[in-house]
Amino acid sequence: MTEADPMRLLAVHAHPDDESSKGAATMAKYVAEGVQVMVATCTGGERGSVLNPALDRPEVWERLPQLRAEEMARAREILGVEQEFLGFVDSGLPEGDPLPPLPEGCFALVPTEEAAAPLVALIRRFRPHVVLTYDERGGYPHPDHVKTHDVSVLAFEAAGDPERYPDLGEPWQPSKLYYHMGFTLTRTRALHEAMLETGAESPYAEWLATWDPARDMSHRVTTRVPCAEYFPVRDAALIAHATQIDPHGRWFACPMDLQQRVWPTEDYELARSLVDSTLPEDDLFAGIRSEVPVL
Ligand SMILES: [Zn+2]
Repeated sequence: MTEADPMRLLAVHAHPDDESSKGAATMAKYVAEGVQVMVATCTGGERGSVLNPALDRPEVWERLPQLRAEEMARAREILGVEQEFLGFVDSGLPEGDPLPPLPEGCFALVPTEEAAAPLVALIRRFRPHVVLTYDERGGYPHPDHVKTHDVSVLAFEAAGDPERYPDLGEPWQPSKLYYHMGFTLTRTRALHEAMLETGAESPYAEWLATWDPARDMSHRVTTRVPCAEYFPVRDAALIAHATQIDPHGRWFACPMDLQQRVWPTEDYELARSLVDSTLPEDDLFAGIRSEVPVL
């Protein structure tokens, strides 16, 4: 790796705060190693809720879109990443039976070909070697997360093709595409059991009780990035999204040192690769770094 051509990582997320709960320690680690890291945030999180009881007040709800942009700016600084909003409107999480229709004009309703355009332009401008996104189920059943997956896959495939989106800049083909696999049954069980061993109450008990093993992704993990020393940076970035996270809630109920000891990695599935690397991997840039001449 030379100074003239550093490695570049692009993480595509649905809402402000997703970058701090999925892959944040990985990003902080790579930033510390001199990798350029960019977060693309598809929507402004306009239809989110105030999830921190301490801030659940009318004046906070009124200013939510603006507050979320301010929170994102703080998280961006803490993580040391660049970040851009792609300009789509949050679809909200539909609730009820039957589910209500999605609001007109929201991100999830934009045709994927059109919704991928700003991301294709960003890939051609930022020229990432690695792109991170969610799996085909969105990792979480929110229509914006599924859409984020769809536009990421389309943009990964189209950005290097001069015949697609010809007006959006010089073609650039990223080398690897990964899906977040941070919340596997294996990891959750390991943390749960370790907490019980210490005699503490486990924040995962309820979650595990309702977990459908058929939906577990453990077997898909190809790549585990050691990043435990950056877990505190991850938590600081998450807390910066003050309207979105309860600092006394389940997210923070598992002691830091236990997490660092029991599960010191963030995990991914290598979904597409244009380079050779040996699986399992511990580096998102495996197979890419070696192709850059070392001066
Ligand atoms: Zn989200």
